[in-house]
Amino acid sequence: MLYSELAETFDRLESTSSRLEMTDILAAFLKTADRSELRSIVYLSQGKLHPDFVPGVLGMADRLVLRAIAFTSGTPEDKVEKMWVETGDPGNVAESLISRKKQMTLFSEDLTVERVVKGLTAIQDADGKDSQERKMKTLANMLHDSGPLEARYLCRTVTGRMRVGAADMTILDALAIAFSTKEDRPAIERAFNITCDIGLVAETIATGGMDAIRAIDVSVGSPVKVMLAERLPSVAQIVERMGGRCAIEYKYDGIRVQAHIGKDGVRLFSRRLEDLTSNFPDIAEELRRTCRYGEAIIEGECVAIDPDTGNMLPFQNVTHRRKKHGMDEAVKEVPVRIFMFDCLYRDGEDMTSSPYLDRRAALETGFEIGGAVQMTTMRIVESEEEGEDFFSSAVASRCEGIMAKSIESDSVYRAGNRGFLWIKYKKDYQQALTDSFDLAVVGAFYGMGKRAGRYGALLMAAYDQETCRFETVCKLGTGFDDAFLDGMPALLDGTLSETKPADVDAEMVPDVWFEPAVVLEVVAAEITLSPIHTAARDVIKDGAGLGIRFPRFTGRVRDDKSPEQCTTVGEIVDMYGMQAHDSDGLSE
Ligand code: AMP
Repeated sequence: MLYSELAETFDRLESTSSRLEMTDILAAFLKTADRSELRSIVYLSQGKLHPDFVPGVLGMADRLVLRAIAFTSGTPEDKVEKMWVETGDPGNVAESLISRKKQMTLFSEDLTVERVVKGLTAIQDADGKDSQERKMKTLANMLHDSGPLEARYLCRTVTGRMRVGAADMTILDALAIAFSTKEDRPAIERAFNITCDIGLVAETIATGGMDAIRAIDVSVGSPVKVMLAERLPSVAQIVERMGGRCAIEYKYDGIRVQAHIGKDGVRLFSRRLEDLTSNFPDIAEELRRTCRYGEAIIEGECVAIDPDTGNMLPFQNVTHRRKKHGMDEAVKEVPVRIFMFDCLYRDGEDMTSSPYLDRRAALETGFEIGGAVQMTTMRIVESEEEGEDFFSSAVASRCEGIMAKSIESDSVYRAGNRGFLWIKYKKDYQQALTDSFDLAVVGAFYGMGKRAGRYGALLMAAYDQETCRFETVCKLGTGFDDAFLDGMPALLDGTLSETKPADVDAEMVPDVWFEPAVVLEVVAAEITLSPIHTAARDVIKDGAGLGIRFPRFTGRVRDDKSPEQCTTVGEIVDMYGMQAHDSDGLSE
């Protein structure tokens, strides 16, 4: 297939904000695409070459791309740079300059999807001496045979700016329409949730239909989307909701890790599918040593331990392990333990459909527990009092709170889903009216007074899973210390956007916009109806959205969460409901 056909589809996708329309455009296109290219096409529509868990990202510096544009179009570099300063997007610059270039036919070669994939792979893998020059030339070579639209998307892809609205959920909808029926949508989503590979799902359904989709199993090496917990405001409500009897575990304050223990070694994934193996080499080794299965996938929380007292340390201490350098020292200085809480797979047996107690038993029998490999502390409780008592001991042990887990026969591992089979309850719930929020930064306001010359406040958004859009909930200006204020440009400026990003809904207009990428943890006093914020607009009341009052940054950058994993608008609506319930209780 010619890349121009793909670029035209991207252009059509970008020109609509209706998710239904996007789904139809994608479905029609995927249906006609060559099956052997489907996988690449799906990855390219998300600006990638492979699923997120495969190492390697495309990230060419803007200036290098500008040089390639100048080189191909014969435009002086200073003029190209000026255009870039004006538009902020190398894609737009390429589009307008390439459209003016003379078409050369003698040395042209068709720009096919296959050629683009090869070229982009070479750019991603270029390493060592002259790598910048080689990247530049490879891109220039592709631009040489591009029309304006292809040039726009090539430059956006190499600089990590591809956002045409082909979110995972939209692609899954499109696959159901193109190759099956809407009724099969949940089975298609399950295949995605247990493989985290949208390209694989697309290729499987197109070539083998629904039988092949249903035959996809959890497998070592492909991360499984993590199961998430709902929240309730009191232990009493949790025990009642669980039917009067449930398991409760300590909720540890660390980093969630999904360990894939295979014949060829151990790989650790974060909840946003980053490979964390090099951050926790000691944990990987201990899991391998203590595992009695040939193969297994388990989950646990990695927690830093004070080497002098043996006490658990807060989350910040384990983040040292995320830094690339000095790992040997970090392993010695900050010992880490993994507290295992789930088993998703063991020796050919997909355990995601087994009940909670069986999965936990698989951990207890499958590992030699001790040292750095521990089980989460758990108790089966049958009353509010027992639950409260357990919560107090969790807090006394420096945990964040508790995780209640259903022990019913249907207590399966629901990959990629948030539901009431797991319910979290944190100590913050007792202080503030609401839980903490993990929100995406979508804009910034320049500071005044002591903050002049820096960003003074940020525009924060929650994620709407239904529409795949980011909707604002607050302007955040408190909780920033000097170090954070100074570090903000380094943290955020890589995601600067000249205009409001296509997937952001906002009425408040900041001084600068950011593509949603950075997630911050925020606490607040209350969720209120808001005339200006766009989250859950018209859901509770016509013309009003939901905003959060007195937001304060906790100091925690959630770099373990992707923007799509931040607090959802649905959760905020539920929290608003819980809050109303709470104050009803108070006024009784
Ligand atoms: P939150 O990030 O507040 O939504 O809480 C969910 C997170 O709690 C999970 O993703 C885990 O990282 C963490 N966690 C800590 N202890 C447990 C546990 N016993 N069971 C499940 N998750 C846990």
